[in-house]
Order: sequence, then C-alpha cells, then structure tokens
Amino acid sequence: MEIQHIVNKLAQYRREGKRMFATSSFQTQSAVLLHVLSRIDKTIPVYFVNTGFHFPETLIYKDLISQKLGIHVISLFPPVPKSMQTRFSGDLMFTHDPDYCCYLNKVQPIESILGQYDVWINGVRAEQNQYRKHFREEVQTKQQIIRYHPLLKWTDEEMRQYISLYQLPVHPLEERGYKSIGCEPCTRPVNGTNARDSRWVGMKKTECGLHMTDICTDTTSKK
Ligand code: SF4
Repeated sequence: MEIQHIVNKLAQYRREGKRMFATSSFQTQSAVLLHVLSRIDKTIPVYFVNTGFHFPETLIYKDLISQKLGIHVISLFPPVPKSMQTRFSGDLMFTHDPDYCCYLNKVQPIESILGQYDVWINGVRAEQNQYRKHFREEVQTKQQIIRYHPLLKWTDEEMRQYISLYQLPVHPLEERGYKSIGCEPCTRPVNGTNARDSRWVGMKKTECGLHMTDICTDTTSKK
C-alpha cells in the first residue's frame, strides 16, 4: 500500500510536461485509485463514461465519492443515441452484440478524448482476470498515449485493507452480492470469489474493450 512510487511517477510525468487523465467506473474498488490520486494531485481530471445503462446507485456513489475526495470528475456520453443502437425488433445492442454495444457506449467516448492527453491512468489489476495478468505497469500504445496502471500489482487483500484504513465509502450494491459493478443489463450478483464473475454472466466476454489490444497495444515490449 506504499504510494511513493506513484507519487514519483506522476511527478516525472509532470516534469516531462505530459498531460494526464484518469478513468473510473465508480465501483467500490475504484475508490482506492481515486483516493490515491486525491492525495497526490486533485487537478488530474477523472473521466466517467456514462453509458446510460448504469445502476442509479452507481451515479449516486459517483457523486458521493467525488464530493468527499474533492476530485474533478467529467462525465462522457456515447455519441450514438440509443435509438440508433437497436435492431428492427427494437432490442438494444447488448442483447445481441455486447462487444459492439461496449464499443459504442464505452470505447468511442474515451477515444474521443485520447488526443488531448499523453498519459491515461486507470486502476486495472493483474489479479482481476487472466487477460490483465499479462499487463505491464506502464505501456506505450500505438495511439501515442501512455497507459499507466499504478495499482496493477495490488492484491484484493491490499485493496480491502486500503479501503478499510481510509474508511472509504462502499458501493451500495456490494452488500447485495455485486462484486464488480458495470452496466445494469450485464452485471449480476455472484457467490464466487472472483469479482469479475459478476460481469457478462454466461458469456465468454470478460472485457468491455477499454483495456483490449486496439487501445492498449504495447509497442515497446516484446511479448
Ligand atoms: S456492459 Fe453491457 S450494456 Fe454496458 S456497454 Fe457493454 S454490452 Fe452495453
């Protein structure tokens, strides 16, 4: 739970004149990165992609924690209206093409801001799933933006300890069995120990796309 190396890294980016932003999905574990950033530099903007499909509890939690930490949160919205995200039957995209739904509602809004920044800070952790296990803490992407994952090596236990130490607010759905909380149609309460099992239950899908190869390709390391 030592954050000095994060302090040093952000100071280095500042010295190099790099423009930084963070993203957050505002669930319980998101509070750790948000709190760390608030201790180091409250001016770093934190973007929240409001897909239009979030639980009302998430929006309330976002406002609560933003206010408590005094961070600068900016909501992004999908450019394609929901009326254009349906089939002829009227079914919304998540019912038949969740990858494209995530692209329209999560990836596109973030892509629209990447050109304004040099460093993207986000809270992915290696423990979360097999795919993230292979991430590196700092990645130069083909979009010329650095992805910085300061919490990559933090364990679930360390996250719990940090939340407890600083008495950070807990997402209200957690006590109802939701261990990882995304959009309402694609999130379920689960009994297992892996939090990410709450997402896209019954599908092979494990990622929304924000952390997939097209916007996270490491162009500096040999895989
Ligand atoms: S998580 Fe589900 S509802 Fe949200 S953008 Fe992805 S497919 Fe659509």
